[in-house]
Amino acid sequence: MSLKLHNSLTRKKEEFVPLEDNKVRMYTCGPTVYVYATIGNLRAYVFSDILRRALMYLGYDVTQVMNVTDVGHLTSDEDVGEDKLELAAQREGRTAWDIARFYEDAFFRDAEKMNIPRADIVCRATEHVDAMINLVRRLVENGYAYETGQAIYFHVPCFTDYSKLSGQSLEDKITAVRAEVQEDPEKKNPADFALWFKAVGRFENHAMQWDSPWGRGFPGWHVECSAMSMKYLGDTLDIHTGGIDHIPVHHTNEIAQSEAATGKQFVRYWVHNNFLKVDGGKMSKSLGNVYTLSDVEERGIKPLAFRYFCLSAVYRATLNFTWDSVAAAQTTVNSLYAFVREAKRSGATGPSPEWTREYADRFRESLEDDLNTPRALAAMWDLIRESNRRQDFSVLAVLYDFDRVLGLDLDRVPVEEELAEDYAALVAERQKARETKDWARADEIRKQLAEAGILLEDRPGGVVWRRAEG
Ligand code: AMP
Ligand code: ZN
Repeated sequence: MSLKLHNSLTRKKEEFVPLEDNKVRMYTCGPTVYVYATIGNLRAYVFSDILRRALMYLGYDVTQVMNVTDVGHLTSDEDVGEDKLELAAQREGRTAWDIARFYEDAFFRDAEKMNIPRADIVCRATEHVDAMINLVRRLVENGYAYETGQAIYFHVPCFTDYSKLSGQSLEDKITAVRAEVQEDPEKKNPADFALWFKAVGRFENHAMQWDSPWGRGFPGWHVECSAMSMKYLGDTLDIHTGGIDHIPVHHTNEIAQSEAATGKQFVRYWVHNNFLKVDGGKMSKSLGNVYTLSDVEERGIKPLAFRYFCLSAVYRATLNFTWDSVAAAQTTVNSLYAFVREAKRSGATGPSPEWTREYADRFRESLEDDLNTPRALAAMWDLIRESNRRQDFSVLAVLYDFDRVLGLDLDRVPVEEELAEDYAALVAERQKARETKDWARADEIRKQLAEAGILLEDRPGGVVWRRAEG
C-alpha cells in the first residue's frame, strides 16, 4: 500500500500513514438539511465516498463518521444572520424539526441513488448537544473561550496556530470579518467565533434550544463537528473531508476548538474537494441553475451517469457541469453497460487472464496517486478496448473489482437491454390494443416505435423487441 493524498494542511501530496496500523478514522462534514442537496454538494459526497472506497480497496479498515447539521448553521459562516433551519421553517410553514427530517431523508435518498453508502456512523447535531456543551465548557475553563450577554466565543488570538490551515493571516481575517455586520458589541476580537448562541435577542424565539450552563441556547455549527468527530473517533482523526469552501472558516475553527481543548493534533490529513461549477460559473438562484439530482433525472440522465461524470475529473480540480457534458457521461456509461452486457452474454466467467493484470495495476496505481479517477477510468477503458481486440471477454471479474471503487453497479447490468420506460409503456399499450382487437391503434404504435428504431416481433410467447440496425 502506498497511497498518496494531498494534505491541505501541508499543501503537499503526502504518503498516507494512519495513526494506528491499517485503521483509518475518517470524518466527513455532512449536509446542512434545510434544502435539497445541490449537484455541487453531491460532488463533495461522491468524493468522500470514492476516498472511503479506495481506502477499503487498498486494504484499510475504515470507520467513517458523517454528521447531519440540523441546527446552528447561520446564513453567514461568520456568526451573522439567521439559522438556515429556522429560515426554512418560516419559508415552508413547518417546524424546524420537520424541515430537518424531511431534507435529511431527501439527502439520503439522493445518496442512495448515487451509490453513496451511509457512513458507518451518521450523527445528528441535535442529538449530541451534551457533547458540544462539554467541549465548550472545557474551552471556557481553560481560558480559550469567554461569555457575553449573547454568546460564548472562542477567543482566536489565544490560539497561536489559528491560520495554519487557511494560510490567511489573522490581520486579513479580521479585515474580512469586519466587512460583516458585527452583531455583538461585547465580542473581544472581530475574528472570535461563537461556540454557543444564547436564546436572547435575535435568537429569543429560536425553536431549537437546550439548557446549558449559560442558560438556554443552541450550539454553533463549527463546534458541532469538533464535538461529534472526537466523540466517535477520538482526539486525533486520520482524515477529515469537505469542500474547499470550508477551509478558511469552518475547518479552521474546528482545528482551533479541538486542539485548544485537547492539546493534541486534531486531524492528520485534511482532504478537500474542489467545486462543481455550472456553465463555467457559480451556481446561483438568480441564474436559476442551482440544480438538484431531480433536475438531472428529469433530463433523462441517470444518477449513476452523474456519478461517472464526477469521477471524470480529479477531485482537486473544478468540474464544469453543462447539460452537454453530463449527457456525454450518460452515453459513455451506456457504452460501458453495453460492453458488460456483451461480456455477460459471452458466458466467459473464468478467472481473469494474465493479460488483464497490467490494467488492474494501472487502475490501482491511479487511485494510489491522490485518487486520480480519470486515469483509473482510462485504465478501465483500455482494458475494454484490449478485451474487444482479443475477443477475450473473460474480464468481468476485473471490472467488478474496479467497481468496488467506481460504484457503477456493473454487476447489476441486465443481460438483456431494457426498453426505456416510455417505450415500454407503448409496448404495453399495444398489447392491450391487440387484446381488444383495436388493430388500428396497435399498428399505429408499431409504426411509432419503428420510427424510433425499435422493431417489434409477435411471437407465440409474447412480443419481443430489437433495435433496428444502424
Ligand atoms: P453544506 O450542506 O452547505 O454544508 O455543504 C455540504 C458539502 O458540499 C460541503 O462539504 C461543501 O463544501 C460542499 N459543497 C458546497 N457547494 C459545492 C460545490 N458547488 N461543489 C462541490 N462541493 C460543494
Ligand atoms: Zn463540519
